[in-house]
Amino acid sequence: MPDATQPRPAIEAQYDAVIVGAGFGGMYQLHRLRGLGMTAKVVDVAKGVGGTWYWNRYPGARCDVESMQYSFGFSDEIQQEWKWPELFSAQPDILKYANFVADKLNLWPDMLFETRVEGAKFDEAANQWTVRTNRGDTFVAKFLIMATGCLSSARVPDFKGLSGFKGKTYHTGAWPHEPVDFTGLRVGVIGTGSSAIQSIPVIAEQAASVTVFQRTPNFSIPSRNVPMTEAYERQWKEKYPEMREMARQTRNGVIAYPNDFSALSVSPEERHAIYEKRWESGGTTFMASFNDLIFDQASNDTAADFVRGKIKDIVKDPATAELLAPTSHPIGTKRICVDTRYFETYNRPNVRLVDLRPALIEELTPTGLKTAAEEFEFDAIVFATGFDAMTGALTNMGVEGTGGVTLEAEWRDGPRTYLGLMAAQFPNMFMITGPGSPSVLSNMMVSIEQDVNWITGCMAHLRANGVARMEATREAQEAWVLHGIEVANKTLYPKAASWYMGANIPGKPRVFMPYIGGIATYREKCAEIAANGYTGFALTGGIAQVARAAE
Ligand code: NAP
Repeated sequence: MPDATQPRPAIEAQYDAVIVGAGFGGMYQLHRLRGLGMTAKVVDVAKGVGGTWYWNRYPGARCDVESMQYSFGFSDEIQQEWKWPELFSAQPDILKYANFVADKLNLWPDMLFETRVEGAKFDEAANQWTVRTNRGDTFVAKFLIMATGCLSSARVPDFKGLSGFKGKTYHTGAWPHEPVDFTGLRVGVIGTGSSAIQSIPVIAEQAASVTVFQRTPNFSIPSRNVPMTEAYERQWKEKYPEMREMARQTRNGVIAYPNDFSALSVSPEERHAIYEKRWESGGTTFMASFNDLIFDQASNDTAADFVRGKIKDIVKDPATAELLAPTSHPIGTKRICVDTRYFETYNRPNVRLVDLRPALIEELTPTGLKTAAEEFEFDAIVFATGFDAMTGALTNMGVEGTGGVTLEAEWRDGPRTYLGLMAAQFPNMFMITGPGSPSVLSNMMVSIEQDVNWITGCMAHLRANGVARMEATREAQEAWVLHGIEVANKTLYPKAASWYMGANIPGKPRVFMPYIGGIATYREKCAEIAANGYTGFALTGGIAQVARAAE
């Protein structure tokens, strides 16, 4: 990886496209645009590639989609050559993989690190974007491609007294690059989402004490992670094209071998046996036990009861077990967590659970924090408090479309996109895994490849037809937003106060942001729209305009 720590003069340059973000989306998009012979620059505030896997270095960080599936499928050379060390790989290995891909494709010369995009404005006369950065750079590009990720805007709640705490603070999503040593320290962890559930068991092995502040208990399934075996790897590598295609045809981009019948269609004994088998094999595919767990409350209750029972079996102190057992939302409607000995960790003498429901955190003090009921002293506090998910990175970037409209203002009542790929009044701006696409409800690698392939095909089409400007129509956008709401309302998801709904940020509009219709359906829809000449988009300039004028 090139050393990007040196000060440098501001750059003025023109490209076919500026790509914001050097995670897997930005990397693959750059590769594809090069394939079209287009010029592109990837800009990222990080010092290297990897996006979410660059930032989330907290202890225990690990992907909860199997590595053989959470990886690129576009290059057989890459998928055959890379060797995953574990079934569910840890963050350092995923970051190594991202660097391996960047080396393999020689992406480095077209990437600019330690540079934050601070503004982008569409020039209506020239049909191009002007992009400004915090290093004084100005880039002009016909296309702006947002590869900013869905969980990239880490958020520390606005606690009173935050800056007065004298100990160390960490956010799981912006973890230091140097090793953090908790040996002998009293550590407070705020939050019990996926990041907390992965990090708490590891921190507890090191720290003198860990106090976990829980506002909402979460459902978690054991990962049953194991080292990769040669036989398992071979089995995948021999059938990779077929397996990748199978993943694309699933609901969420993960091969989970779902049972296609209702939880209520079998006897209680059979149901229990099915859950037990899934629990024993581990991972998020637990939710594929039956086909109606996200649609039917009574079915969902059976799965939730099963997991609550497991929590009570594992956690020895009945009062703690009771507090850890989620009751406020249907299982799966907040992102299901996958853990390694999370619930077991509460059996350790140095771990204490504090239920915040009766008494929320009131403030941070110089020596710790205070709830309405109790005061705590800590040497370090870990904020596992999540992200301004899906929209934060986009709305904070100062993006201005036509007529002076900003993305921030346009999305004040929730994000509005067409297919999650484009937004009305933001011409020539694409989003990879944007709000309104399956994104976070799917294996991100499958969604990234889908979106990048679609965007690349679209850009080739625009060039071939001399189209100067492409924009989602407001009608198509509103219909897609409405469709998204309709599909979400057929599920149990809106019942949970989740980050999918924007509920984790005070004042954020409550809108279900990802598209829940499933990857396979979404792919079909996107392909159909492209095949029909990009219906729902206004294409102007060049041949497109001539053709429309002649109609
Ligand atoms: P998260 O799921 O949003 O969890 C944040 C936690 O902080 C929640 O327990 C939340 O409580 C709590 N919290 C927020 N504000 C608080 C406050 N003011 N006081 C007390 N508690 C507060 O964030 P995350 O754990 O970082 O995970 C985000 C997503 O990243 C996951 O859902 C997943 O999609 C992805 N992720 C994946 C993996 C993986 O692949 N294994 C690992 C980590 C993350 P409430 O629930 O009450 O709001």
